[in-house]
Amino acid sequence: MTQGGPQARTRPQQAQARTRPQEAQARMWPQEPHARTGPQEVEPRSGTVLGLDLGGTSIKWVTLTDGQVTRKGRVPTPHSGVDDVLRALADVAAQVPEARAIGVAAAGALDPVAGRLLVVPNIAGEWSTRAVGPELADATGRPVNLANDARAFAYGQLRHGAAAGALDAIFVTLGTGIGGAIASDGQLRMGLARRGGEIGHMPIEPVDGRKCGCGSVGCLETIAGGRALAEMGADLVRTGAAPALAAAVGGQPEAVEPADVVRLAAVDPACARLVARAGHALGIALAGLTNALAPEVIVVGGGVAAGLPAFRPHLDEVMSRYTVLVETPRIVTAVDGFAGAVGAAAWAAEPPSGYPAPIQPSGH
Ligand SMILES: [Zn+2]
Repeated sequence: MTQGGPQARTRPQQAQARTRPQEAQARMWPQEPHARTGPQEVEPRSGTVLGLDLGGTSIKWVTLTDGQVTRKGRVPTPHSGVDDVLRALADVAAQVPEARAIGVAAAGALDPVAGRLLVVPNIAGEWSTRAVGPELADATGRPVNLANDARAFAYGQLRHGAAAGALDAIFVTLGTGIGGAIASDGQLRMGLARRGGEIGHMPIEPVDGRKCGCGSVGCLETIAGGRALAEMGADLVRTGAAPALAAAVGGQPEAVEPADVVRLAAVDPACARLVARAGHALGIALAGLTNALAPEVIVVGGGVAAGLPAFRPHLDEVMSRYTVLVETPRIVTAVDGFAGAVGAAAWAAEPPSGYPAPIQPSGH
C-alpha cells in the first residue's frame, strides 16, 4: 500500500488562513518516525515545493519557495500512454530534488484519496485504472497531491495571486470548457464530495440552448467556452455568415480557434454577436454568483481569458443591471500560463482546508 499509515492520511489541524507559509508547513509536515532517506531528499524540511500542471499540450512546472516562484519550465505532454506521462512527470521531479512535495493539477474528475485521475480529457490513456498519485509518489520518493486544474488555479490565486488577502472570491477558468471555484472566509470551498465550483455548468439557456458535454443543455460553457466559440465560429464559416472569419482561417471551419472569433468581433458582425452572447452569459452567471456570495474579487484565468476585454462591455452591462449589491466585485484577469502550476505547488505546500493529506511514497 502506498498511502502511508493512518496518520499520513489524517488531516492535521487546520492552519489559520493567514498563517505564514513556513509556520503552516511545520504543522502540516511533521517528521514521521520512519522518515525516508535517499539521494533525492536533499532538504527534507525545505520550503520548496513542485507544482506540475498536466495539460493536453504541455506539462508546465514551477518550484515555489516561501510563496515565490523560483524555477519554472515546460515539457511536451506524451500522448503515448499513461506510463510515458508518469515518466515525464517523474523526470521533471528528478530535476528538482530540492522540492519536498509535489502537487499535480489536471483537468477532469479525480479521486484525491486514492490518487486516481478518473477522467483526463485531451490526454490519451487508461487513466481510471491507474493509481497515478501512489505511482508518482513511489517514482519520485516524495508525497504527491492531486488537484483539479481549475481549483489549483484558484488556490494559487488565493494564496499568491490576484486574490491574495481576499476572504471571498470567485474564480473562473475560461478554457476549452469553463471551470471555477469559490473561496469563502479565505478558504477554498469544495462542497459536497468535493465536486463544487462547476461554474461552467450553470444553466443559462436551459430551454433551447446547445447540448453540453455534461449531458445538460445550455450550460454557460456551451455559450462562452472556448470549444463552443470555436464550434459556433466554424458553423459561421460553413454557412458563409462570417466572411472575415472565413478569410482568416482560409475557409477551413475546423481551423477556427476561439481567439479568432474574439479578435474578429471588431470587424465581423457575426463574430461580434457570438462574443456579445458569451459576455452576456458570463454576466448572468457572475451576477447570480455575486448576488449569492458577495465576493470582493472575481479572478478570470484560462486560455481564453486574454479575450476577456472583448466580453467585458456585455458582461459589465449585465452585471450592473442584475447585481443587487452596493459594492460590486473587482473583475481581474490572470493570464499567466503558469498559474495552474503555481496553484499545484501551493497545493503541495499545504492542501486547502478539508482536502486529503498527500499520498506518501511506499515504505513510510
Ligand atoms: Zn454542462
